[in-house]
Amino acid sequence: MIVVASSNGKVGIRQAVETLRRGGSALDAVVAGIEPVESNPEDHSVGYSGLPNLIGEVELDASIMDGRTLAAGAVGAIRGYEHPIAIARRVMEELPHVLIVGAGAERFARELGFPQRDLLTPEALAVWRGRLERTVEVDPGTVKYLDRMAGLAKLAADPERPNETVNFIARDREGNIACGVSTSGWSWKYPGRLGDSPIIAAGNYADNRYGAAACTGRGEMAMRAATAHSVVLYLKMGLGLEAALREAMTDLHAVDDAYAGGMNIVALDRDGMPHAASNRPDATFIFMRDDMADYEERERLYVP
Ligand code: ASP
Repeated sequence: MIVVASSNGKVGIRQAVETLRRGGSALDAVVAGIEPVESNPEDHSVGYSGLPNLIGEVELDASIMDGRTLAAGAVGAIRGYEHPIAIARRVMEELPHVLIVGAGAERFARELGFPQRDLLTPEALAVWRGRLERTVEVDPGTVKYLDRMAGLAKLAADPERPNETVNFIARDREGNIACGVSTSGWSWKYPGRLGDSPIIAAGNYADNRYGAAACTGRGEMAMRAATAHSVVLYLKMGLGLEAALREAMTDLHAVDDAYAGGMNIVALDRDGMPHAASNRPDATFIFMRDDMADYEERERLYVP
């Protein structure tokens, strides 16, 4: 049994592994791992305290996929609910649909009795208002994106932590694999914009027969290259995990995107081997097996 996650999953990975140890399924573990990240007030890229869109509203996206049946559920641009991953799971389990968005997703959450919460924190609001000075080095694509969105919003852009997302993949006692993604998406995004996170095949894919992959980074690129599905397809075609990741990252070179920025993938093969890739040096991911006392943080494969 194993759980692999993006490194902001540290607040949830122990809980996810504990869920597996107690006999929970891979789907249970993914939700158990992601919920603490969604509640973490220090993480401005996921759930509560996520950075808002162009008009100052926090809109969340999430998806979950069951590698045993290829069932999937997702919500997009949902406001006022702290745990979109749990709502995505209910979409998968209770609706004859994969993805619901906006007012429909909020209606579904309300019908199921999920508690409502104002997700915009004063700190996230302050970041949204923006500062004139750039305090953090970011790549040219991100600078361009922020300038464009700041122009649309008539705001001064602050590139500090403009994006990230959380990825969790779990493999349970039965060898079943599940994959989950949750995000507040790109800060200053146009209202209603969906990234790769709620789109099955773009930001999330799981298939017990081959493995699973999930993405963080510029969603528009992962959507155009079907990145998560590509990793799993390359595994199916017989590539090893590292080669599959390298190939999927290299596919992104063909995506001509003026706003290109960081792209990152975490993955697990069908035998439970974890790995991850990034187009930034020194990026890390975490994993924890059921026989480990704590998680281990490893460097991602660097594929510029
Ligand atoms: N992939 C997310 C999105 O495009 C954001 C991120 O991971 O940075 O919404």
